[in-house]
Amino acid sequence: MSAAEQMISRVHPWLDGKLKKLFINGEWVEGSTGRTFESRNPATGELLADVVEGSAEDIDRAVRAARAAFNGPWSKFKPYDRQEVLLRLCDLMDKHYDELSLLETLDMGGPISRTRSRKTSIIGMLRYYAGMATALHGEVVENSQPGHIFTYTSKEPVGVVGAITAWNGPINAVIWKLGPILATGCTAVFKPAEQAPLCALRIAELSVEAGIPPGVFNVVSGFGETAGAALSAHQDVDKIAFTGSHITGQHLIRASAGNIKRLSLELGGKSANIVFADADLDLAVPGSAMAAFSNTGQVCGAGTRLFVERKVHDQFVEKVAAYGKGLKVGNGQDPKTQIGPLVSQQQLERVTGYFAIGQNEGASVASGAERISEGDLSKGYFVSPTVFANVKDEMRIAQEEIFGPVVSVLPFDDIDEVIARGNTSQYGLGGGVWTQNLKKAHRIAKGLRSGSVWVNCWMTRDPAMPFGGYKMSGYGRESGIQHLEEFLNVKSVWMNVT
Ligand code: NAD
Repeated sequence: MSAAEQMISRVHPWLDGKLKKLFINGEWVEGSTGRTFESRNPATGELLADVVEGSAEDIDRAVRAARAAFNGPWSKFKPYDRQEVLLRLCDLMDKHYDELSLLETLDMGGPISRTRSRKTSIIGMLRYYAGMATALHGEVVENSQPGHIFTYTSKEPVGVVGAITAWNGPINAVIWKLGPILATGCTAVFKPAEQAPLCALRIAELSVEAGIPPGVFNVVSGFGETAGAALSAHQDVDKIAFTGSHITGQHLIRASAGNIKRLSLELGGKSANIVFADADLDLAVPGSAMAAFSNTGQVCGAGTRLFVERKVHDQFVEKVAAYGKGLKVGNGQDPKTQIGPLVSQQQLERVTGYFAIGQNEGASVASGAERISEGDLSKGYFVSPTVFANVKDEMRIAQEEIFGPVVSVLPFDDIDEVIARGNTSQYGLGGGVWTQNLKKAHRIAKGLRSGSVWVNCWMTRDPAMPFGGYKMSGYGRESGIQHLEEFLNVKSVWMNVT
């Protein structure tokens, strides 16, 4: 082993200094172009692994493997068999979760305390869909035809799914899609985000150990414009399940036209978080701060437009700013870290760019708006949690998704006004309200045009509750029984028994 290989294997046992290849048909394979890219720790800049860069040819190879598995061994798996292997994968995830959470922290920077705390919910999601594998059914339908015609519907898997994911939660990005894909009997080619591909590769390896046949779950690492574009335009892919920006979502809509493939789009957000003066401020202050700062603000449903009733506006700004200043920013491997680095140099430039945009637009900085580069943090992409006050609805920092730990605070006076202003965003992913008044809570929940509304909490998720967008936050739902439907075709059968 070279010195570099030894260093990498000390950081993480699975990162043994070897090239991380493509995972196709249950095997580690070289890419067709011989090109690789680096995966580096955003907290330190350290090299974690060289990763094979998949090309259109590699995508084609993976799609062919997925099609062969779909028509072949996987089609022989009855619902109960699919449930069994999914449950075995849950057990393996459980056994290897510490290792996986460290891999996620190393690859995208998220605090280890956060990745560890999500164990139950992530594996719980997979267990939920394992259970659903034996709960799929069609319906017997009464009809009004003359004679005796028996009619029923059955649900069938859509086929080969291309899953293209973002980097902000590498473990959940796989699991949330994989659960329903496998429960319904589909097969998949995953194209994880180039910023953080390692967890997808490791989970694919575990899937074969769980007894999922080779070819059912393939992973082709690579870039969006090449591997991602090839997957989304592939004529033998039946559906694309996508998580990422609305700009890429628009590309995918165009690319899907070639074979009219199905699409589900989990896109960006600029969620309105509304605080009334009657809210329990002890709950609303930390809740609103973490709605925006959690995972360094790299959360699609982050509450980044914070509307505060004017009566409590100034004190609320002060308290959220103080809360942000009190958060420990650092390397995600430190269990005390609450805010890790941004994922990449590009993301750092984007977020610090908005620090300047906000100030140039006339907003005032209540806290943060700085890059942190002292001492141990000098090699990473760290910024301080940022609160902008005196923000106007039309400012870019109030309309554009920043995807960093930045919250824009806007005062309001009246409930109808705040609902109307909350709905001015092009996005409609999340929304929330903090109040002790039930009538206000219901009016906000009904009034906001968004896929989720949280009352006196933020970003809680459960396997049984659907999650997804309105407007430019996309369409389709993840979680819940609704997500299964995204991977099922409905067949109508007419049987003349006259
Ligand atoms: P992105 O759209 O740039 O990339 C996401 C994925 O798409 C990556 O795997 C990338 O390689 C791929 N891709 C890029 N261009 C492509 C193309 N032309 N064809 C096919 N694939 C392509 O998004 P990002 O900036 O990496 O991720 C952040 C975005 O994701 C934010 O907007 C965030 O809100 C969103 N997001 C949404 C959810 C949700 O559930 N709604 C969850 C997480 C992240």
